[in-house]
Formats: sequence, structure tokens, C-alpha cells
Amino acid sequence: AALYKVDGWGAPYFTVNCSGNISIRPYGTDTLSHQEIDLLKVVKRASDPKSSGGLGLQLPLIVRFPDVLKNRLESLQSAFDYAVQSQGYEARYQGVYPVKCNQDRFVVEDIVKFGSPFRFGLEAGSKPELLLAMSCLCKGSPDALLVCNGFKDVEYISLALLARKLCLNTVIVLEQEEEVDLVIDISKKIGVRPVIGVRAKLRTKHSGHFGSTSGEKGKFGLTTTQILRVVKKLELSGFLDCLQLLHFHIGSQIPSTALLADGVGEAAQIYCELVRLGACMKVIDIGGGLGIDYDGSKSANSDISVAYTLQEYASAVVQAVRFVCDRNGVKHPVLCSESGRAIVSHHSILIFEAVSASSYETPQVSSVGQQYFVERLTEEGRADYRNLYSAAVRGEYDSCVLYADQLKQKCIEQFKEGSLGIEQLAAVDGLCEFVSKAVGASEPVRTYHVNLSIFTSIPDFWAIGQLFPIVPIHRLDDKPGMRGILSDLTCDSDGKIDKFIGGESSLPLHELEGIGGSGGGYFLGMFLGGAYEEALGGFHNLFGGPSVVRVSQSDGPHSFAVTCAVPGLSCGDVLRVMQHEPELMFETLKHRAEEFVHEEDGDGMAHVSLASGLARYFHNMPYLVAPSSCCLTA
Ligand code: PLP
Repeated sequence: AALYKVDGWGAPYFTVNCSGNISIRPYGTDTLSHQEIDLLKVVKRASDPKSSGGLGLQLPLIVRFPDVLKNRLESLQSAFDYAVQSQGYEARYQGVYPVKCNQDRFVVEDIVKFGSPFRFGLEAGSKPELLLAMSCLCKGSPDALLVCNGFKDVEYISLALLARKLCLNTVIVLEQEEEVDLVIDISKKIGVRPVIGVRAKLRTKHSGHFGSTSGEKGKFGLTTTQILRVVKKLELSGFLDCLQLLHFHIGSQIPSTALLADGVGEAAQIYCELVRLGACMKVIDIGGGLGIDYDGSKSANSDISVAYTLQEYASAVVQAVRFVCDRNGVKHPVLCSESGRAIVSHHSILIFEAVSASSYETPQVSSVGQQYFVERLTEEGRADYRNLYSAAVRGEYDSCVLYADQLKQKCIEQFKEGSLGIEQLAAVDGLCEFVSKAVGASEPVRTYHVNLSIFTSIPDFWAIGQLFPIVPIHRLDDKPGMRGILSDLTCDSDGKIDKFIGGESSLPLHELEGIGGSGGGYFLGMFLGGAYEEALGGFHNLFGGPSVVRVSQSDGPHSFAVTCAVPGLSCGDVLRVMQHEPELMFETLKHRAEEFVHEEDGDGMAHVSLASGLARYFHNMPYLVAPSSCCLTA
């Protein structure tokens, strides 16, 4: 656990159990020891067709824990409730979940269900997101907010107004000045009184990677001049009472409570000014930004860490708003946040398998007779060889590495010119590795091939260099004997992970058991990736998305139930995404089999077995007759 810093980034949900496997504590610190779930057992149940109740799903696999999601939501709510109560704040906290962070149906439905007792709502940023939020919120609390952000055209605004007609507590947040005219016009036409918010561009700027949306030059929101013009327009058209919410978002992963308090304080001042100008203000929506400590370092100087707890975040917000409102004699507003990352990151784990590892050969120095090797070198090469030898005798290790490198470069040149054979080239490679190992300059790093597409499943690693904790989910009671980087199965050289939390360029890993890892599998997990990664992934190399299972704690010590299993996409499914027609493709190949295989083999049935072999690829045979999603109860 210490080697992979599980206690740092994993608390309070992940730990290592006495079998050396990662265990999940679904209720965080409230989890009793018999309620812990062994992740390896879940993976075996989901993937192994032979184990009892095994589902035979292909890896990679996303394992979701709805109880973790529930615990995150309740922890966020309790942190604000405590801050409100302890500081005598005279209004409540009522959050929304931005569905862009993970639009998975079960995730959104769970959030609405778990958050209903405390009126938790949703935020949408596009028409499809609004549609899904509308239908999910029909089953939520009637007071839950439905915050409509993002670029808005006539259709988007009409849909948001229809949502109000359906008695959903919908707020249209103006992100661009022009949107106010559309909202006024369409509201008059449809005959609905809208509830309007404005998104302010704050001067407070968050300087980390995720802060580019903040500051005066940020991409979204209205400047103070634009806010004043919007207020005037609303006043003139008799809609000023509809302006009830002030929103801002200074970026994800806000590093410190000092910056947070600065931004919230500025927004609270704008809120008070809007009250003074006659708007019927009720809610201040502080956007997202509640961060996750991906490396467990609790540092404000890193894009992947934050220097505060949930409670410190909530207390800073409440204090900043209360201070400014009291100073202005303004009634305390309802506090809303759009925390996405902090709600969904922990609840899902991406599991993949190392299917092979590049072998590491003990350096061979004497594969070619030394005399013969040296004779074939140029005069300069021979000088390097002599220098290397003398440096080794004198124990000058840095010089050894230098001369070995020079010698290698010269040999490569000679090989390209045709004056050195492949055996000598291999011999110099072996010599250099030997030197490097002997002087401790480099530990051998293997390449572990893992069965996923990094582009599809961990897109932020590739796009913005974001690091996530990656850990073997078993054998953690065994000291790993190797170091490795992870290379995915796409043909793209960017499809590799060679940076890990803690600034490491390789990961401690275990030797694969059996030939080609046939000894039962070596499973790794990518943790804290429940936000954004699933929504961003594409289809590079036509890798489909992972299979998904939902896992809940069930009766009996350490037992769990797989309550839903969805197989990953078949080859046919992903081809369809690129407009191919798998059925036609299959027919074409089947005809070809009838035409050629039948004649050449003189065997009337050969083409039939070939065609059925092909069918497997198009239809993902194990699931050919299964529904695309199956629900199992405990
Ligand atoms: N609200 C808005 C407007 C956003 O743009 C985002 C993310 O970029 C969020 C909320 C969610 O932010 P986070 O995941 O940091 O909570």
C-alpha cells in the first residue's frame, strides 16, 4: 500500500486487505470491516466465464460502486450543512451535478435518487444533456434545481422553457449577452415566466491548468458592462424579477481555499449589487472546482492535488458569502455548487489486464569474441573501447557510461555504412546495458502491454497529461520485482503511460506468472477516473468502450452483488459508429467464403465454419443471444 500511496489518494474508499488485494469501503469511514469488497473477486466474477456466477465480460472493465457515489453526495451535503449551521448562515446549500462529468444513465439516475432528500439537482450544458436531465429529474425532488448552462440557441431556450412548464425548477443561465433577447422573446411567445441567471466573468483568476476559463479574458460569461446592459434590458421588458441567480465558474481543481474565497467573495459582491439594482436574487451558484487529490500530496502547487478537505471547502464558501452579504445588509442566498469531479471520480474504477511484458535479457557481453569485435571497430571506436576499459578499472563510473554511449553511437554509424555486422551491433548493445546496470545508472524498465486503448479510456492522460493513480489490484503483499511502463494495444506510439503519480517514469510491477501471463492474469486498476474520462473517450483504432458492472454490498460478510452488467461494444458496434454496415460486410465475406473456401478445400462444410468464425467478430459471439444489458439481483 505504501509503495503505491494507496492511503494518500485512496482514503477513505480504497485500502489493501490482508490478501494483498485492493478493497473497497463503499461507505468511506462508516464502512464496517465485513462490508469491504475485494476488487479482485469482483473482476473475476465479471470476467471469468468459468467461475460460479461468472459473466464472461471482456476487459477493460469499469466497475461502478453506487454506494460510493451516495457517500460522496452525502459527504458534500453534510460538509455544507455543518458550515451553514456552525456559522449561523441563514440559508441552505442546494447543489447540482453537472452531467457533462459523466452522463451515464445509471450515474445520473443514482445521483437524482440519492440526492432527492436534500433537493440535489442537475446542470446541463447542451440540448441532449438538458433532455436527459429533464427526464431524470421527473423522479427527483420538485425543488431540485435544473441549471441550464452552455451555448444557447432558440431550440435550447424553448426546451428549457418547456421544462418550466413541466414544473421542473429550471434556471436559464445567460452565458452570452445576446441570449437575453432570445429568452425574453421566446418566453413571451410560449407564455412562460422564466427564471434567469447570469454567469459572471470574475477578475479572480485560477492559474492552474484548469483555470483558463477564468479571469476577464475567460471564454464564458458576461463582463460587468454586459451584466449591466442585461439588467437594463430585463427591466425595460418587465423581466427583472425573473433574474434570480448569479453563477460563475473559475475552473476545475481550484488549488486552495484562499483562491476559492477570493472568487466567491467577488461573486458575492456582484450578487449584492444585483440585489441593489432591483433583481429578485435568490441563489449564488459557485460552479465547479472542488478538487480531487489524485496523488495524495495535499499540495496547492500541483494540478493533480488540492490543499483542502471537503469541510474546509464548504466552510470557506459559506464564510465568504456570509461576510459580503452581511457587509451589504443583503439576505443570505441559497448556495449552489456544480461539483462534478468531486462527486463522481471515486465511484468507478477502470480495470485492465497486462497481457504480456517485454522480456528483459541479462546483458550478454561475450556473445561475440571480444578480439573479433574490437578488430572490426574503427580507430575511434577502438579508442572508446580502451577508454571504457580503463575507466572501469579506475572505478570512474560516469566516464564508463559516457564511453559506452560514444562507442554505441559509432557502432550504429558503422552498421549503417555496412562495415559492422548485426552480431557486433548486438554485442555493443549488450555491453552498454551491462555497463549501465553495473554502475547502477538505470534499472531495467519493461514494457507491459495492457488490453485497453488509452485514447478511449484515459483521454486526459493523452490530451493534457493528467495523471491518475494506477495500481495492480492484487499481489500487493508481494514486493514487485520489476519496473514497467504501460503500453496499450493501439498501433499508436502515444498509446503508452510512462508518467505516474509522484513524478515517477515507471511503475513498480510484478513479474507476470506463467508463459505470456497465463498464470491467472495480472490486473491493474486506474482509480479516480469517474469524472470526464468516460465522456471524453473516442474510438481510436476502433477500440470500443469498456464493459461495465455495477456492484453493491450485499448481505453476508464481504459479499457483493453485481446488479447490472453491460458488455463492451463488439467489433460490429464500433464499425457502425464509423458508418460501416457490419451486416453487409459480413454478407460480403460470407459469399467470398462460399466462393473460394468451398472450391479449394473440396469440403462442402469448410466455408460454413469459416463464416461462423467471422460472425463472432461482427456480433461479439458471447453476447450474440444476450441482451445488450442484463440486470442480476443478489
Ligand atoms: N460547471 C461548469 C460551468 C463547468 O464548466 C464545469 C467543468 O468544467 C463544472 C461545473 C464542473 O467542474 P468540476 O468537475 O471541477 O466540479
